[in-house]
Amino acid sequence: MIKEIKTINNFNFENQIALIRVDFNVPINKSYKIIDDTRIQYSIPTIRKIISEKGKIVLISHFGRPKGIPSKTYSLEFLAHYLSRKLNVFVNFFGDCIGDSVIKKVNELKNGEILLLENLRFYKEEENEDENFAHELSKLGNIYVNDAFGVAHRLHSSITILPKFFGEKKCIGFLMKKEIEFLNQFLYGKGEKPITVLLGGAKISSKIEIIENIINFADYILIGGGMSYPFIKMKGGKIGKSMIEEDKDQTIEKTLKKIFHKYKKKTNIIHLPEDVLIADSFKNGANTKISPIYSIPNGWMGLDIGPVSIKNFCKIIEKSKTILWNGPVGVFEFPNFSLGTRSVIKAIANATDKGAFSLVGGGDSIASLKMEKSEKKMSYLSTGGGAMLYSLKKKILPGINAIIF
Ligand code: AMP
Repeated sequence: MIKEIKTINNFNFENQIALIRVDFNVPINKSYKIIDDTRIQYSIPTIRKIISEKGKIVLISHFGRPKGIPSKTYSLEFLAHYLSRKLNVFVNFFGDCIGDSVIKKVNELKNGEILLLENLRFYKEEENEDENFAHELSKLGNIYVNDAFGVAHRLHSSITILPKFFGEKKCIGFLMKKEIEFLNQFLYGKGEKPITVLLGGAKISSKIEIIENIINFADYILIGGGMSYPFIKMKGGKIGKSMIEEDKDQTIEKTLKKIFHKYKKKTNIIHLPEDVLIADSFKNGANTKISPIYSIPNGWMGLDIGPVSIKNFCKIIEKSKTILWNGPVGVFEFPNFSLGTRSVIKAIANATDKGAFSLVGGGDSIASLKMEKSEKKMSYLSTGGGAMLYSLKKKILPGINAIIF
């Protein structure tokens, strides 16, 4: 698929104005110190290529959820200085993203200069696929570059509508290209076998559908954390008060039944935990014991995978050559329920060290990696959990669609 999409390698940016949609929605602390600048770091190669070709750059991004209301809290101004230092090139900032004053600023840009504009979401139109808003944005450059994988699944003006105004002059940046190439290893079964997909976490409804697709290419699907309970329930097990997405329970069950019916012969590649560490309340200091996952007593809940499951999962991971992980296998935020997640991290790190390719996505999985200081031990950390899940359903991301057509 990647061959059909134009990338920035298809263009020479000399004397051109590149309008780059980036995702600079980085986590910060109270004093606006960036806690994790991965998204910025990964977008730098795109910026550098354009600068080295003496192009001009206009950067547009969202930041947080200001819901159409401009405020200092959600201003992107603090990033201009940060970017200047990272790039060693002065980055100008302007406190709006559309209108005549912005156009004037853009026209003043010289070759090799960068202008960062204010938060797109200060206009509610950004999140509403608004033609007029996108048209206004389109006046700010002559080549559109999408390098915002984190929001490529969103139907937002700067993602799906804006590219329409650029005819053939639109493409993806290096960050997007990398993310899509890595995901394609899984989506098209291109990766070296055995291919293992480990799914955990709490947002079950967002992940259950992808099983129907990954069952076609994966050799092993490992299910842990909150993800496992709908499977156990469907198979007639007792899950006590383990987590279940109450309002979506019925839909999840229906989807699971459909998958198990349709792929009868393949469901043996789905591995569920055999045992779990159960707790009598949702807190780190709760009373705990190990229980078979199919017979969790009333009043108890599974908060981590148990020792047998840890052994089984790690054995599969360590013999895998291509590994995708999205979602912790327990409530890793509580140290007493973090052993499962820490163990699978170690197993993925070992496999990667032995030459496997590992792709990790989802905010919580990445947070747990950081807690374990293991983020550098993975092959690649995705910059978009939601976009990754969307792709794994084998859907072409709206942001990619808008570039292709
Ligand atoms: P997600 O965003 O879907 O990856 O979910 C991540 C969250 O799932 C983390 O905050 C974990 O604490 C939570 N989680 C994982 N396993 C369980 C479990 N067995 N019960 C409740 N929450 C869980």
